[in-house]
Amino acid sequence: MSKTSIEIIQADITALPVDVIVNAANRSLMGGGGVDGAIHRAAGPQLLEECRGLNGCMTGEAKMTSGYNLPARHVIHAVGPVWDGGKRDEDRLLGNCYRNCLRLADQAGLTSIAFPSISTGVYRFPIERACHIALTETLRFLEQGTSLEKVIFTCFSDQDLQCYRETYRRLSL
Ligand code: ADP
Repeated sequence: MSKTSIEIIQADITALPVDVIVNAANRSLMGGGGVDGAIHRAAGPQLLEECRGLNGCMTGEAKMTSGYNLPARHVIHAVGPVWDGGKRDEDRLLGNCYRNCLRLADQAGLTSIAFPSISTGVYRFPIERACHIALTETLRFLEQGTSLEKVIFTCFSDQDLQCYRETYRRLSL
């Protein structure tokens, strides 16, 4: 068992005072709708300036920036797969997102990270399936030992919150 605590909460991720929040970005890293838009609005225009210099990001990969006006010190921009029925490697690519975010946070020696539910908004990944991948990849990563003391899964809707809590309960049995 790892010593890192896992929290599943309903919140606006832009309000969380953690070391790093994860953005469900697109490959351009130039902002968008959903959580991406909310993060850029709350961080201010300097975030877009820094993102401009990153030359985008491949699906399944992640890149870190400063958090600017956010209460979070950093942002990790991760690009989830667009759901297309499950035959285009979507499961593996989503798993890569979570692993790459955790690895970046760990390599920077960070202690707290908050994830949104990557790919389950505009990218239409089914929530139960995405939530299972998010939790299993994270639990597997934490078993290796890490600087991270707290991992927060931030749910926006009641349904997502229930799904994460129920899936986590089943995985911890
Ligand atoms: P994607 O394109 O990866 O599907 P979206 O931003 O459309 O990304 O949706 C990802 C998840 O983020 C959805 O569950 C959505 O409800 C949620 N979300 C949107 N805004 C916020 C926010 N401010 N804080 C936390 N989660 C959010």
